[in-house]
Amino acid sequence: MNTQSILNADLHCHSFVSDGTLSPEALASRAKANGVDLWALTDHDEIGGVARARVAALEVGMAFLTGVEISVSFAGHTVHIVGLGFDETNNALEQGLAKTRGGRDQRAREMAEQLAKVGIHGTFEGALKYVSNPELISRTHFARHLVESGVCKDTHEVFRKYLTNGKPGFVEHRWASLQNAVQWITQASGMAVIAHPARYKLSANEEYALFTEFKAHGGQAIEVMTGSHSAQECIQYAEVAREFGLAASRGSDFHSPDESRTDFGALPYLPGTLTPVWELLQARIQ
Ligand code: AMP
Ligand code: MN
Ligand code: MN
Ligand code: MN
Repeated sequence: MNTQSILNADLHCHSFVSDGTLSPEALASRAKANGVDLWALTDHDEIGGVARARVAALEVGMAFLTGVEISVSFAGHTVHIVGLGFDETNNALEQGLAKTRGGRDQRAREMAEQLAKVGIHGTFEGALKYVSNPELISRTHFARHLVESGVCKDTHEVFRKYLTNGKPGFVEHRWASLQNAVQWITQASGMAVIAHPARYKLSANEEYALFTEFKAHGGQAIEVMTGSHSAQECIQYAEVAREFGLAASRGSDFHSPDESRTDFGALPYLPGTLTPVWELLQARIQ
C-alpha cells in the first residue's frame, strides 16, 4: 500500500494562456480553496503562464510543479503528453513548444473557411475574441464563439457537430512527434505523462504501440484519475499502469467554471497500489 497516494494533487488544468478562461492566479486560488495540496498548470503547447502560477501557488501556500500539455500526432490520432517538473528555462523545450504552437493560426483560418462553406461565417474573428494568447487559438475558442452566437447550445455539441474528425470544421493537423515531445520534457529534467489515455480512439494494437513507444522514448507515467475518465476508465487504466510498469498521475483538466465537469481536487485519490508521479518528482516540487 502506497501511503503517498493519499494526496490531493491536481496536475492538469488550463488558464487563459491556452484554452482556459481564468488567469493563473485565479486558478491557484480556486485550487487552494478546493483543498489541493500539490498543483500544476498545464497549458496546451505553452509555458507562458508557469512563472505566474508558481508565484500565486507559493503565495497561497500550495506546493507547485511546472507543467505543460503537448499536442502530439501518433498513428493518425492526436494524443496529449503532459510534462511535469521540468526546468522551464530549457531552450530545446521552449523552441519545441513554439514550433508546436506555430501551425495553429493557419489551421484556425482553414477551420473558418470550412465552416463558411456550410454557411457559418466569421468564425475566425469570432473565435479570436475569446483568445488571450494570439499564438494559441484552439478549437475551444471556436466552440465558445459558436455557443455565444447561438449555433449550438453548449461546447460539447459544437465538438460533436462541427469540430471532430469527419465534421465540417475539422482540419487535419500535424503536431509534434511522440519522441520529440517526450524528449523535450525529459531532457529538461521533467517527467512525461500520457494525458487522459481513455480519450483516444485507438485500436488495441495502436494503444499497445503508444504505451510501448512512449516508454521506449523515456515516458514514465499515465493519468489514471482524470476529469476526462469515467469511474470505470479510471479502474481500467490503473490496471494498464500496473501492466506497463508506469507511475500514475491525477488531474481535473479544469478549463472553466462554466464548462468543466470536474473541479479542482474533486477526483478520488489514486489507488494505493500504484506509484504516484509526485513520489518520483519529489526533488522537483517547489
Ligand atoms: P485543439 O488543441 O485546438 O485541437 O483543442 C483541443 C481542446 O478542445 C481540448 O484540450 C479540449 O479542451 C477541447 N475539447 C476537445 N474535445 C472536446 C469535446 N468533445 N467537448 C468539449 N471540449 C473538447
Ligand atoms: Mn483544452
Ligand atoms: Mn488534453
Ligand atoms: Mn488538458
